[in-house]
Amino acid sequence: MSDAIIPQGLWTGDYYNQGTGKNDIFDTLKEECGVFGVFGHPEAASLSYYGLHALQHRGEESAGLCVTNGDEFNYYRGMGLVKEVFDRDRLSSLHGERSIGHVRYSTNGDTSLMNAQPLIFKYRDGDLAVATNGNIVNAPQIRHQLEQSGSIFQTTSDTEVIAHLIARSSKDFVEAARDALGQLVGGFAFLLLTNDKMIAASDRHGLRPLTMGRLGDAYLFSSETCAFEVVGAETVRDILPGEMLVLDREGIHEDRYAEPQRKALCAMEYIYFSRPDSDMNGSNIHAARKRMGQVMAQESFVDADVVTGVPDSSISAAIGYAEQTGIPYELGLIKNKYTGRTFIQPSQELREQGVKMKLSAVRRVVEGKRVVMIDDSIVRGTTSRRIVNLLREAGATEVHVRITSPPFKNPCFYGIDTPSRAELIASSKSVEEIRQEINADSLEFLSAEGLISAVEGDNAKNYKGGLCMACFDNDYPTRTNFEGEEKFGCSC
Ligand code: SF4
Repeated sequence: MSDAIIPQGLWTGDYYNQGTGKNDIFDTLKEECGVFGVFGHPEAASLSYYGLHALQHRGEESAGLCVTNGDEFNYYRGMGLVKEVFDRDRLSSLHGERSIGHVRYSTNGDTSLMNAQPLIFKYRDGDLAVATNGNIVNAPQIRHQLEQSGSIFQTTSDTEVIAHLIARSSKDFVEAARDALGQLVGGFAFLLLTNDKMIAASDRHGLRPLTMGRLGDAYLFSSETCAFEVVGAETVRDILPGEMLVLDREGIHEDRYAEPQRKALCAMEYIYFSRPDSDMNGSNIHAARKRMGQVMAQESFVDADVVTGVPDSSISAAIGYAEQTGIPYELGLIKNKYTGRTFIQPSQELREQGVKMKLSAVRRVVEGKRVVMIDDSIVRGTTSRRIVNLLREAGATEVHVRITSPPFKNPCFYGIDTPSRAELIASSKSVEEIRQEINADSLEFLSAEGLISAVEGDNAKNYKGGLCMACFDNDYPTRTNFEGEEKFGCSC
């Protein structure tokens, strides 16, 4: 089985999570990837197809699937959406009861099939497939060391370092994987597949989500629980920080490669990335967002005629804000769902108009009204200004912006494509300066405490709610710079 033959894009960075991040006209943060695995089901490929489809929002650039019955690997990877990469014939050719699959978002310029996952390798003990979500912060240094000692890399993906570390070890696969995972620093969720084993592993802080489900006797793994719902599986539990689950003919073995550090699940999963029907760390995403809106209303009420949310991620919070204040919730903004990955982006002259191709204001809803506009974050500020202006052009008399996260001031090192700190508007401007920049009548951000309380809901309290909030507070859970002297915080 081979990869789809598609012209390769121009690679402009050294490593695939490097975050060249010019972003697009819509100025949003980008998720990096989603993973889905099956162990012990005769229709592993079909389950993975539906599972990956449910995770499509985590990556639209490429999709891939590797399946085995214990002998040879069957795999296919291609550029595009899951439904574009796989058709019925392709899927039916992928026989086996174990599989790992992947959907990928790539940074600008990195649209190469070469980096589509799962990555597939042959090594002395057989076949190895690797799928990951996240970013290995010290991958460039490990890669450099490996290259110095003779390793030849097939891709520009930092995921490949784990395969080289495993292949160079003289230990058996499980011990080699344990050693390899122990060398990695960053935020990652790994699925590793060999001819007779599968490993699911999470980084020491649980930065990127990975959860386990059951379907009959089969074990399933997914970045989000929404994929379990789609295939009729039940959710069992999250993979714990530093944990590696090993699956083989005897069943599942709970193991770990490192002692857990403080739990630090990415706060942006709750705020923006994950699907509302997913649960994470015991909290439903929709319910958490709704509570963010409620807390936001308690923290920064403003008298207005309608509340509206920027679709899709801010709808839940807007409903919460409306419920708490008694101000009616209305669909004041409509998203054009067909402006997708393949949409031809407008020229520089038309960029100001660009947002209208994705969002429309509903004139009958907002005309002559004081509008509260709920959004999840402000990155550069350009999109917020455009949306505020959309509402004004549609006749809104006032636009009050409420953001259901603290100011986004610091770049992410754990797999989210963010602009450099200098491009993040909140890193250099005050709330009042941002308000002026986005042309809003008022602007307020959710406090860090409010965010934590909204995410926790009724759950037990953890340190910081078990969240990474580094893009807000600069408190990175790991080292972020491995060049020269040890350095914590931003390395930009
Ligand atoms: S720095 Fe921000 S985006 Fe990155 S993992 Fe932490 S919370 Fe998520």
